[in-house]
Amino acid sequence: MKTDVAAGEGPILVVEDEPTISEAMRYALEREGFRVETAADGRQALHRFRANPPMLVLLDLMLPEMAGLDVCRIIRSESIVPILMVTAKDAESDKIVSLEMGADDYITKPFSMLELVSRIRAHLRRASMVETAPEPSVLTAGPVKMDTQAHRVWVRGESVSLPPKEFALLASLMRGAGRLMTRDALIGQVWGHDYFGDTRTLDVHVKRLREKIEENPHDPRYLKTVRGLGYKFDLT
Ligand code: CA
Repeated sequence: MKTDVAAGEGPILVVEDEPTISEAMRYALEREGFRVETAADGRQALHRFRANPPMLVLLDLMLPEMAGLDVCRIIRSESIVPILMVTAKDAESDKIVSLEMGADDYITKPFSMLELVSRIRAHLRRASMVETAPEPSVLTAGPVKMDTQAHRVWVRGESVSLPPKEFALLASLMRGAGRLMTRDALIGQVWGHDYFGDTRTLDVHVKRLREKIEENPHDPRYLKTVRGLGYKFDLT
């Protein structure tokens, strides 16, 4: 067991539907001292990713059911974890789209396990050099100020009280201010990924938040709907 891998930093999540490749990766990575979790499809990948946040995701582009690119996009909307895409030989467009979807890098099949391990180490070194600033307890976006520790919200200077789920939803939208937050990401962050209730619940909560934040809730300036995808706390 090597000692240069810090304990408690989360596993490497290997998302690969071909068991022989997946097992070969697990073997190579565990031999290097990494903890490894595997997922054989996109849904399982998102489940594992949310249940046990990994320190790096190794993501096969060609997956059954949910495409690797969609998995990449959803993970990126929820986390800054390094994502290394595994792409097929010669598919130049896949590489470009992977990077556009938020992957940090790609590795082309076939590759040696030695190459894979050295790429992973390079990404983890880079990730550990990025100072992880503690999350500020006071968030500000548009007319809204929130103290996440004191659980208080002000809109245009006026104190507003919010039920817990509305508070959590607003916090998620404010943390991602200026960016699209997918429906999956918001539901995952506010209700948990095991939530099987009515997905309209999200829309109802957004509607209530609009009534408290927007000057005109029917023509929202801040809590914008991104049709078919999710919501965005717009700062423009
Ligand atoms: Ca595959």
